[in-house]
Amino acid sequence: MIASSNGRPKTGLSQGKTASPVATPYLNRDATPVAQILARAIEQTDDAVMITRSDGVIEYVNPGFERITGYRAGDIIGRRPSILASGMHPPAFYSELWRTLGRGESFRSVFTNRRSSGELYYEEKTISPIRGADEAISHFVATGKDVTERIAAERRLEYLANYDALTGLPNRSLLHDRLAQAIQRAHRLGKGVAVQFVDLDRFKLINDTLGHNAGDRVLIEAASRLRQCLRATDTVARLGGDEFILIQEGVGNPDEVEQVARKVLDAFAPCFPVAPPQGLFVSVSVGLALYPGDGLTPDELLMRADLAMYRAKEGGRNSFRFFEAAMDASAMRTLTLEAAIRGALDNREFAVVYQPIIDTRTQRPIAVEALMRWHSPVHGTVPPDHFIPLLEENGMIVPVSRWALRQALRQVRTLQCAGQPALRLAFNLSSRQFRDVELLQDVTAALDEAGFDPTLLELELTESALMDNPDASAAVLEALRARGIRVAVDDFGTGYSSLAYLMRFPVRTLKIDRSFVYQMERSKEAATIVRAIASLARSLGLELIGEGVENVGQLALLQEVGCHQVQGFLFSRPVTGAELALSFPH
Ligand code: C2E
Ligand code: CA
Ligand code: CA
Repeated sequence: MIASSNGRPKTGLSQGKTASPVATPYLNRDATPVAQILARAIEQTDDAVMITRSDGVIEYVNPGFERITGYRAGDIIGRRPSILASGMHPPAFYSELWRTLGRGESFRSVFTNRRSSGELYYEEKTISPIRGADEAISHFVATGKDVTERIAAERRLEYLANYDALTGLPNRSLLHDRLAQAIQRAHRLGKGVAVQFVDLDRFKLINDTLGHNAGDRVLIEAASRLRQCLRATDTVARLGGDEFILIQEGVGNPDEVEQVARKVLDAFAPCFPVAPPQGLFVSVSVGLALYPGDGLTPDELLMRADLAMYRAKEGGRNSFRFFEAAMDASAMRTLTLEAAIRGALDNREFAVVYQPIIDTRTQRPIAVEALMRWHSPVHGTVPPDHFIPLLEENGMIVPVSRWALRQALRQVRTLQCAGQPALRLAFNLSSRQFRDVELLQDVTAALDEAGFDPTLLELELTESALMDNPDASAAVLEALRARGIRVAVDDFGTGYSSLAYLMRFPVRTLKIDRSFVYQMERSKEAATIVRAIASLARSLGLELIGEGVENVGQLALLQEVGCHQVQGFLFSRPVTGAELALSFPH
């Protein structure tokens, strides 16, 4: 119920201390007791009661009506109920009302009406005909409840159930409905539907480094850019997190889909007005699946667009990929790999190989990087890029890596004892391991067991592993440093490459990602980036390693910018421990 401003119900009728409590044509002191009680009931109910003549002219309204509508009885008696009309109901609504009443039946509905203040409200109203002694309809009585709050709450709930509160886009549940409808329409019209799976690149990093507020602003801006890529009749939905879905209807051929995908990539080219003054560049990866070719149900299409999106990301972000049947096959392969890897540690299928890191000034190896191999009896030798993510997912990365570290420490310790006393071991840690609470304890125990000098161990971490949780990272890195263990940033240049965090973390070494080394010879831009990384490393007092050096041209360029530690096929492929021992002069 709507309370009046002074907290007391306003009646507007003459309820003064001296006047009788009731003063309308219907209620008088001479009425019978029953009639008086009836009259009081109407006067005192919270509901709005309005009585009109059969021609619609208002003869009576109760205090409840005055409270709800804001009109005083004196102002409204003699007028027509249309004074409450909001203009929100189509004419058909009123003709249905009059038809029903004309049949002598009650009409019941939720009316959208307007108060005297102009404000809209919802009234759940029943209008019934009143018959006189001659059975003819003499009046209508309308009783109503103000249900504005209830309807607003229902609408809000319905909205929340179907729309994403942050961006205002349809959510996963409404997306499913829309996609199912789009499929039905396409089936009827013999047209195609395209599902575009759009995922922001490195969104987690934005959230972690700039905070959730900035993350939210990026999502809102992304939503509005995506909306502009489609016609008003197509759907843009937010699946959750940084994942969006575009449904493009009436598709005749893949070119039309590709056009929209390009439009999406272009829409993200301009800088986002977040984190001023320099702003933020946010790219997206897009996976495309088409009805009916790639799937017949919403779930199938979404899954395949998702797979294609992952391939787009693997292929170097800021790009789009169409789903191909081969992707499903490789997803299947992942499933069988996943099953096969479970027994791999017990079956001794893992091995560690080593790739030397050379100091070009002395031409001698200063370190070796341990790289894991999986020799599966079923799948052959599986590259680490394929099986490390599986180990991370199923949690085996911790025990497998614990084993690999002990193995590597033992083998390198043997080399140190055999005449390479200062040889360092570089060992890769994935982000999951880096977050493992037992990391320090495990590493310390392995060092002690092998009798290995901690200052000759360097742990390699990618930027994203460090940035996953910068505060926790800082603490772990500090603890490692306190034990004398070195830390290198692996694949440097591919991630966030933020100076601010480099200053904050106690790292010793930057490893320039091999994609830069590879491009350096051809691309001025890549060469400039490498030069910038080199001068950055110098000014921060960091060591620099160039990875993936395959030819003398790359070597020359690296030396020119002042990078004297290199690693790559030009010097040696990764080799087994035994081969490594042979390669050192005795
Ligand atoms: P990474 O740490 O960047 O390792 C260097 C990769 O570059 C190795 O690939 C190496 O064989 C390759 N490489 C070395 N020189 C050249 C070259 O001249 N040209 C080219 N094209 N490639 C070269 P690999 O062994 O396949 O390892 C791939 C990635 O798997 C590694 O990248 C590392 O991130 C991960 N990884 C390997 N072993 C382990 C491990 O024990 N633990 C963890 N967490 N990750 C590992
Ligand atoms: Ca590495
Ligand atoms: Ca690397």
